Amino acid sequence: MFGRMPKKSDNTRYYDILGVPKNASADELKKAYRKAAIKNHPDKGGDPEKFKELAHAYEVLSDAEKREIYDQYGEDALKEGMGGGGGPSVNPFDLFESFLNPGFGGGGRSGRRQRRGEDVVHPLKVTLEDLYNGTSKRLSLSRNVICTKCKGKGSKSGAIARCQGCQGSGMKVSIRQLGPGMIQQMQHVCPDCRGSGETISEKDKCGTCRGNKVVQEKKVLEVEVEKGMQHNQKITFQGAADEAPDTVTGDIVFVLQLKDHPKFKRKGDDLFMEHTLTLTEALCGFKYSITHLDNRQLLIKSNPGEIIKPSQFKAINDEGMPHHQRPFMKGRLYIHFNVDFPENLTPEQCKSFMKGRLYIHFNVDFPEKLTPEQCKTLESVLPPRPPNQLTDMEIDECEETTLHDVNIEEEMRRKQQQQQEAYEEDAEESGPRVQCAQQ
Ligand SMILES: [Zn+2]
Ligand SMILES: [Zn+2]
Repeated sequence: MFGRMPKKSDNTRYYDILGVPKNASADELKKAYRKAAIKNHPDKGGDPEKFKELAHAYEVLSDAEKREIYDQYGEDALKEGMGGGGGPSVNPFDLFESFLNPGFGGGGRSGRRQRRGEDVVHPLKVTLEDLYNGTSKRLSLSRNVICTKCKGKGSKSGAIARCQGCQGSGMKVSIRQLGPGMIQQMQHVCPDCRGSGETISEKDKCGTCRGNKVVQEKKVLEVEVEKGMQHNQKITFQGAADEAPDTVTGDIVFVLQLKDHPKFKRKGDDLFMEHTLTLTEALCGFKYSITHLDNRQLLIKSNPGEIIKPSQFKAINDEGMPHHQRPFMKGRLYIHFNVDFPENLTPEQCKSFMKGRLYIHFNVDFPEKLTPEQCKTLESVLPPRPPNQLTDMEIDECEETTLHDVNIEEEMRRKQQQQQEAYEEDAEESGPRVQCAQQ
């Protein structure tokens, strides 16, 4: 029955790649592939080789016939052509796409696959306010849709003749003489039928699309920008791009582009802002208000007797960005305080003296706390507070906040570590690398 029996070769690697046991069900395979493909997608910075490998492993194991050959004879048997599909025959991106849109194409089934129309990518500018509050944007686009009159045939009768110019292939070959004994063969799209391989007689052309099979349509898309979305995040409208006959319609993809904000900077779910205090405010206390991204007024004030040192960070809990899909969870708002010294000398300012090469770094030792009496004395000597102080009525309209002490370096290190841990946890979840040999 078999002519030449292939040697038995490795038949566990594909299972390892997907991180499933050898007896995994079709459903388990599907889940494992989906999870791993999302994680390793090159669009998200994944390794393209790994992405390709995943697609190939899934393609083989999801096909009952190929899987059986693989289990019995291993990888080499497939390469030698048993089961009619050797190397990476599937386009990993097509496979992944068909996976996300199960209605389209076949999930890894070999055979005739429909052409896939191109995705249309639009940048979409958003403000930090948009990402904080969420918003929806209506965008009007025009696109090609299949002509309903002729159902995409292009002709009234439905009759289609083969293009004479290219014999129906859609391509034409021309030969160019480059020099003695040297010719160049060039293939190009047939100009008569524009690559379709078909022609429609002038009289038979559909009146609506003039034989083009598609007509232009204006479409309004409602793009939902959700709270907490990130810069570069994609919002996809599946199958909303140009339609064409015998083609799976591509997607319209909006890529969020965050505009710089004059006041706030975003880092993950946290917000950062700068505020400059006068020396009087830094030593003897301050009170000011800020307008948040949702227009709430926040009252920012020092704790009684507390001194703010130059370059000090303080944090307000739950006033950062909302977490995407969990918008009731919010990051922190960090305020970086600068202190404006009256005589242009900040404690960190380095003054270099040209005698020899001596650099002196001046540190000002700030006291931790001052008594109300000390404050009073200081205020009488120091320059007066800035003129635009909040009135009682304005204070009433503000939301109270609490400034927390933070060690910014430690905080940032911790956040980075948390991110790393979340990433590793995610990696573990995507399936243990089971090595059980169940032959
Ligand atoms: Zn043609
Ligand atoms: Zn038509």
